[in-house]
Amino acid sequence: MKPLSDPWAAPFETDMRLRMVAACRAMNAGGLNHGTSGNLSVRLDQDHCLITPSGVAYDAMEPADIAILAQDGRWRGPLRPSSEWRFHADILRARPDAGAILHTHSRHATALACLGEGIPAFHYMVAVAGGSSIRCAPYARFGTKALSDLALEALDGRRACLLAHHGMIMLAATPEKALVLAREVEELAATYLLARSAGSPNTLDDAEMAGVLGLFASYGTPDFPDDELSRMDERLPETAAS
Ligand code: 13P
Ligand code: ZN
Repeated sequence: MKPLSDPWAAPFETDMRLRMVAACRAMNAGGLNHGTSGNLSVRLDQDHCLITPSGVAYDAMEPADIAILAQDGRWRGPLRPSSEWRFHADILRARPDAGAILHTHSRHATALACLGEGIPAFHYMVAVAGGSSIRCAPYARFGTKALSDLALEALDGRRACLLAHHGMIMLAATPEKALVLAREVEELAATYLLARSAGSPNTLDDAEMAGVLGLFASYGTPDFPDDELSRMDERLPETAAS
């Protein structure tokens, strides 16, 4: 493994470089992306992020290859940062809720994006992206400020969007969470295309999606509301025989 360019890098940065390589490899191994498509960034501080290099296959990418990028486009590292650095920098600036930005060309989400369509509320899990639909940003050429502006608009109030004739973008607190979200959105896109090929799926209305979004706030925690569920006494009741 190549030594890191800055041996005095903070432990967070050193650890994050390893986590980013793992997330990128998992993204390609899991069929969510291929070749040198896609990219990943992680917030370091208010002005800087780590970002994957441009045109490098993830199997060959090492932690030291990941660049440091400032908001104004200045960068440091052995390899030039992703050509999509603008939308990574712009989303990190505009969205304090984002710790990591992941971009993929996954097959089903991209197929839908090539029709210029987002994902409507055909399934309750669409709420996983933060709203009652997952929008598709209109087309703009890769690597441009125009693409960044359109993506930011499509992400308004959402954690994911599709990019017409291109792919999708996810934002999350960590690269691992962004990867989970990418899997979910890709699966939704695949299911939506399948449902459409068999018929005309209905959509859930805004009131139902608002209810689902409310439940998602506590899903998987002890606060999830369910009046008929209560915790048993820790001690098992003594059996008649004992
Ligand atoms: P980079 O290799 O420059 O990150 O570009 C890949 C990509 O998906 C462009 O949209
Ligand atoms: Zn791309």
